Amino acid sequence: MKFNRAVIKVGSALVSPDAKGCSGKYLLAIARFITQCQQAGKEIILVSSGSVAAGRSLITHGSPNPSIPTKQAMASVGQMQMMANWQRFFDVPCSQLLITHGDLKDRQRYINIKNTLRILLENGVIPIVNENDTVATEELKVGDNDNLAALVALVSEADSLFILSDVDGVFEQDPRINPQAKLIPEIAKIDDSVYALAGATNNHIATGGMKTKIQAAEKAVENGIETYILNGSRGEVFEQLLSGDNPGTHFIAQQGATRARKHWLKHTLKSNGKVMLDLGAVRALTEQGASLLPSGISAVSGNFKVGDCIDVFDSKSQQCIAKGISQYNYRDLKRIQGKKSDEISTVLGCCPSKVVIHRDDMVLLTNIRN
Ligand code: GLU
Repeated sequence: MKFNRAVIKVGSALVSPDAKGCSGKYLLAIARFITQCQQAGKEIILVSSGSVAAGRSLITHGSPNPSIPTKQAMASVGQMQMMANWQRFFDVPCSQLLITHGDLKDRQRYINIKNTLRILLENGVIPIVNENDTVATEELKVGDNDNLAALVALVSEADSLFILSDVDGVFEQDPRINPQAKLIPEIAKIDDSVYALAGATNNHIATGGMKTKIQAAEKAVENGIETYILNGSRGEVFEQLLSGDNPGTHFIAQQGATRARKHWLKHTLKSNGKVMLDLGAVRALTEQGASLLPSGISAVSGNFKVGDCIDVFDSKSQQCIAKGISQYNYRDLKRIQGKKSDEISTVLGCCPSKVVIHRDDMVLLTNIRN
């Protein structure tokens, strides 16, 4: 398996197959796969649905389609059950992240989510993400966890996305109508003809059908993330994955997407400020591929917010050597410039980030490595 960091999305139909509380029926094989990936040095983030389904029997409801507040209450109680259910399959700790579309659209919160995920992964924790159903009203909602998983893959800079449900992948025809229908192993380009293959799902437990999975795949592949739709209810799927086979539908990532991000940083994003670096920091950035730390900054100018792009100058040559996304606003950065990362909390009262610009969020402008 050629991936380093993957987001695995697990649908409600696998977490709570009968919508009567959580079940371990399918999760055991998924958890074993995740553990094997971790043992092979890979990083995994889970996006798990199932809180509404898991809490359904615990909240009184009269209709097959309960009101939104009733579903929110189901999600609230079901989320606890779901997390406890996942944790029992792992020896390593799991963590919970409940996020909304509003959070992902807000620059500061986006960076907070990104930083939290980074640290959780560094510590061998399995982050488990779900939409924050209690606070998410229609305009705040991502709406379905397939699209949420694609956004999580973006924010975490994953290279692969596995969408697990109880269907094998995308078929040439609806397999419920034609059992002979052929599975499509590879899709290189997502266009209307691919969407036309996505019949509505009949599964009453799942929120998204094939359409939201294809939407998620489209978002992911255009950002360079290899995406797979797989049947997580079949244990052999994971063995096939581990031996390098593709048991479902693989949406091929667009080439050059990482280059495109760097290109966007370099050419499209307007800088709102500037920092000057001493010689040591210039070397660390240009020769060692390091992130920018506050200790190497000798001057800060401009009026920038967290998440804005800033220019990075070599104070000796007065040349702009890099651009990147700042983890600090200009006021806080002025206060910590020249300080060691360990001193940030003393100066600011807290330490939002040890680095000013993370390497992944930086592009070098000189002809040295990126
Ligand atoms: N957030 C919802 C839940 O956990 C599910 C949304 C979805 O399945 O797409 O129940």
